[in-house]
Amino acid sequence: MTDDDRTTFHSLLSLMLEKSCRAVGHLSTTGRFKKCYLAVIEWRTINGPGYRYYHSEEYLYKKNSSGLSNHQSSGRRPRDESWPSAVPFPYEPFESAGHIRVLELEAGEGLEPLTGRLVPMDLRTAQEFEAVSYVWGQQHHGTYLTCDGRQISITTPVAEMLRRFRLPDRPRRLWIDAICINQRDVLERNSQVGLMGDIYRSAARVLIWLGEEDAQTVDAFKIFEDAYLAIDKAITRYGSYPTLLNLLESELPAPDDKRWIAFGALMYRPWFTRTWILQEVSLARVASVHCGQYWCYWSHLALLLRAFHYTAALRAIDVDLYWSSTVASIAAQTEPQQHIKPSLLRLLAATIDTGATNPRDKVYALLGIAGDGAAFRSGIDYDKSVADVFREVAIRYLDAPNDNLLALHLASDPAWRSERSLPSWAPDFHIGATRAMTLLGMSCAKFSPPCECEAPNVSNNGMLLNIKGVVKTRITGTGRRLPVRAPGTHAVDALFFLEQWRTMAKRLRHYPTNEPIDEAFSRTLIVNQQTLLSKSEQQTPQTYHMYFQQFRDSYLAGEWQPDNLYAKTLLYHHYLQNACRRRTFFVTQDGHMGLGPYFARRDDLVVRFHGAGTPFIIRKRKGGWYRLVGEAYVHGMMEPEPCWSDSWQLLSLV
Ligand SMILES: [Zn+2]
Repeated sequence: MTDDDRTTFHSLLSLMLEKSCRAVGHLSTTGRFKKCYLAVIEWRTINGPGYRYYHSEEYLYKKNSSGLSNHQSSGRRPRDESWPSAVPFPYEPFESAGHIRVLELEAGEGLEPLTGRLVPMDLRTAQEFEAVSYVWGQQHHGTYLTCDGRQISITTPVAEMLRRFRLPDRPRRLWIDAICINQRDVLERNSQVGLMGDIYRSAARVLIWLGEEDAQTVDAFKIFEDAYLAIDKAITRYGSYPTLLNLLESELPAPDDKRWIAFGALMYRPWFTRTWILQEVSLARVASVHCGQYWCYWSHLALLLRAFHYTAALRAIDVDLYWSSTVASIAAQTEPQQHIKPSLLRLLAATIDTGATNPRDKVYALLGIAGDGAAFRSGIDYDKSVADVFREVAIRYLDAPNDNLLALHLASDPAWRSERSLPSWAPDFHIGATRAMTLLGMSCAKFSPPCECEAPNVSNNGMLLNIKGVVKTRITGTGRRLPVRAPGTHAVDALFFLEQWRTMAKRLRHYPTNEPIDEAFSRTLIVNQQTLLSKSEQQTPQTYHMYFQQFRDSYLAGEWQPDNLYAKTLLYHHYLQNACRRRTFFVTQDGHMGLGPYFARRDDLVVRFHGAGTPFIIRKRKGGWYRLVGEAYVHGMMEPEPCWSDSWQLLSLV
């Protein structure tokens, strides 16, 4: 470890110790790469030992974001090994499949003890109940709920939540996974998880619990209300909304309104970062968002979050809405009235940054809302290894490709892999394990037209991917790697690295596309996204370099303020962040430059696979096999290889 790494790691340690108050344990580093630690923290509680893994990046990210400091934000569901042992509650087995239990929480107020009973129900004929969507926070069970005269141990945050949801005058029927599913019974878990979509669909209302309120919560809800009213008024006045939002800017709270910071903190609560909540919120008939005593309708909040994409005035607000707006947009795409829903793989791509305590849930949590989710539902099995769950998803999409080899584009850089037994061509969907973005969504990807060529196939017990490819060139040098940043944070400090990349680019002298080197370089940094330019600008050869220069100059002059820059320069910077995040710059033997996987290195091969939208980087292994390193953008080499080319060869990836 270098000194920097050590400091990082120690701050990680102290943060963990501070978060789990009873923690006395050890921390160890694993993994082959020095930047890729896996921290293991152990603690002992009255209930016995427990442990959790944290990816260092995940933790530093949380540490650096102000909104999260108050939250234990790790886990979500008790569906993993860290479920502490206590005297188990004697759950009655279900009469038959399709049955659930609902907690009937007795009326009460304030600190009166929590009591209730578990009511078995047939989901098809269930009486009215509400389902709770929340983050499984701390794992140790501080308190209990009396159910049918016996105690179920629950965490303090769950108890706080129950007190908020408890009605003063009558019982309330709630479905809460931690209480209503016997977490110790794997078979029950498997079958109940398959029902989860139906449970949230059947609930009269979904109650989203963001946690207890803090000093900022009141401001957050107030500014939300002001902004929502302005948007609602405009919609009533003009009809449709994406086009009209610019008309109402004057009625929105100003971008420098201090309350936006409070709103940003609320939108950064851990609930927004978890995989499970997508299904819970998108299937809900009605959903409401609660934080302490405050609440609002989810549909209203989602409208505002989606409006951030369309409205310049909202985009100028300097708060991080990456997670929350992703949730709002996925929920909109997958709600029941949508006829065409995204495939499981598309959803996995969009949610690669979300988290699930049990990595299998990265897949299982999406089955209720994926267009093709039903095909996977019978395979839910928590006894299966994580690697097998991920590999089976990849095989389904690669063996008979129908989604332009998207699975291959999502295959993770070795740097982010946590599942070592996963073949290199299969994406590792675990948090922090995969790059956040595929180049596919960007305009640079280019596919060959449909053809009769043979599709890739998987052999050797599902471990080997055989695919047609053309080796184009070889990497001769890679740049310094940008520090890994959370999405949405300002990465202007990356300029230092960009200068080093630029020096490498300058050494190429003449570029294969005949563009000036500076222009080729500026285009590479944003993977040549065309959408930034107007028609007339597209015809002039040096436009991107101009935006790059403006970005660079304003930063060097210490004037990096979003509101004194041209909108296009800001947009250029935004594209740059997205494209360079978790990638590295490289140059090739034949004089090209590109952006590739973080751990691409000298002598890796640049290859074009038949059917894929971008070039890929692969690494030679023994026995004539290759490992996939990841997708790449190579400036001037984005045209697909024609089917009739005689350079195709069959490549076997392990
Ligand atoms: Zn072909």
